[in-house]
Amino acid sequence: MRENSILEMRGIYKGFAGVQALQNVDFTLCKGEIHALMGENGAGKSTLIKVLTGVYPKDAGEIYLNSHSGAVQIRSPQDAQRLGISTVYQEISLCPNLSVAENIFLARTKGKTISWKTMNQKAGALLDSLGIAVKPTQQLGSCSIAVQQMVAIARAVDMECSVLILDEPTSSLDESEVEKLFLLMRQLKARGVGIIFVTHFLDQVYEVCDKITVLRDGTLVGEYEIAELPRVKLVAKMLGKELDDMADIKNDIPVYHKDAAAPVYEAEGIWSIEGIQPFDFHINRGEVNGFTGLLGSGRSECVRTIFGADKVMGGSVRMDGKPVTIRKPMDAMKHGIAYLAEDRKRDGIVGELSVRDNIILALQVKTGFFKPFSKAKATKFAEEYIKLLDIKTASVHTPIQSLSGGNQQKVILARWLLTKPKYLILDEPTRGIDVGTKVDIQKLVLKLASEGMSVTFISSETDEMLRTCSRLIVMRDRKVVGELSGAELTQSAIMNTIAGGEKE
Ligand code: ADP
Ligand code: MG
Repeated sequence: MRENSILEMRGIYKGFAGVQALQNVDFTLCKGEIHALMGENGAGKSTLIKVLTGVYPKDAGEIYLNSHSGAVQIRSPQDAQRLGISTVYQEISLCPNLSVAENIFLARTKGKTISWKTMNQKAGALLDSLGIAVKPTQQLGSCSIAVQQMVAIARAVDMECSVLILDEPTSSLDESEVEKLFLLMRQLKARGVGIIFVTHFLDQVYEVCDKITVLRDGTLVGEYEIAELPRVKLVAKMLGKELDDMADIKNDIPVYHKDAAAPVYEAEGIWSIEGIQPFDFHINRGEVNGFTGLLGSGRSECVRTIFGADKVMGGSVRMDGKPVTIRKPMDAMKHGIAYLAEDRKRDGIVGELSVRDNIILALQVKTGFFKPFSKAKATKFAEEYIKLLDIKTASVHTPIQSLSGGNQQKVILARWLLTKPKYLILDEPTRGIDVGTKVDIQKLVLKLASEGMSVTFISSETDEMLRTCSRLIVMRDRKVVGELSGAELTQSAIMNTIAGGEKE
């Protein structure tokens, strides 16, 4: 083994029916190192981690740990745990209805009874030592996602892990929560823990990581010191494309004939039970506009009101100039509105269903379940959209939950496109997915608009919005506070409007 390394994976192969997920991949983790594992959708990151944690058996290759001479066999997650390899997934697999302390000690007392008092004391000391501000007696489910993740990490640390794997832990955290997580990561690093960090946020990689290993299509592209790989180069390595492809879309300033086009959707004074202030809004045919503002400013609540996903309390709506009533999603769908929700786990995928059945779902709901599509028709629809959106799946029958996040998102997008909407609402369609799929989705939005579809796009990344939208509605404290278009569309203007500064 290399000097200082605690983990080495060598020549790892793993195939699934029809897909070679890993091909001769090497990965080395050193003591006290935060190591980013990067790659596009389907590059093999999760598979590598699942091989390491005994979720999947590998087809070939060896795994070495500095604590053992000779290759180790990891046949189950319990084996991995025993060898000091711990994982914290994005979806936390702890028990929300138990207390923080109970979760930390869950299934670890080895039959011994431990008093509540001792347990709470021990948990308290552990949380203190890691600087996690939460009471041991608090019910886990009542803590923020960030705190829940930190509790999961504390649990791993207490089990004396030497390798900690964080697979996309930050997708659902806000900035201050991410900072706290990074603080914790740095503390663990100082204790000598090696951390494998999977994320799609480039900023985060450059803020917290020491090294980067890049995978592409199941093969190793390379291992780099963070200082020697500027972010444009990282993106190029992940994409396996020259940078021009990226520049392409950046310079592609959308041109709309929005002034000539008539509004598809117009709302006056609509508001919902979720506490959004009454607002006016419209979108023209072939226009791409968006809602922007800080997390929690009400961006999502606005589009949920438009779609009737939250209970609509008042206001009036016209579509193509005619008054309509939209109180619930079905009303919106009947009028040709489609809505890709922010939280695909909650409002989106049906994990156990196949890719095909997930794709036809919205259209089936729209036409009614008493008129089911034939299998052949459903397969034809699914195949068409798998091709159109370049969805990476073994077949139409593959359960959607085995696809990578970006591909799942494309399936949900396919579901809505299949209903042939006039007006498509996308709430954070690119969150937590890889750069390549992001670019695909942005390009698709522009293409759909050029064909006459109206699209409202929400993204936390303002540069992404500037690239796709020709008009931005700015939110602050659950109120529309401004609108920017044309030459006003700049980062600084957005930030000024969000911050409440005067517009020049
Ligand atoms: P990443 O995490 O980098 O996005 P994954 O490791 O999830 O990539 O996927 C690598 C490839 O293996 C993809 O093509 C994916 O569709 C495929 N794959 C992953 N898990 C399974 C599975 N359980 N069954 C079939 N194919 C799978
Ligand atoms: Mg993954």
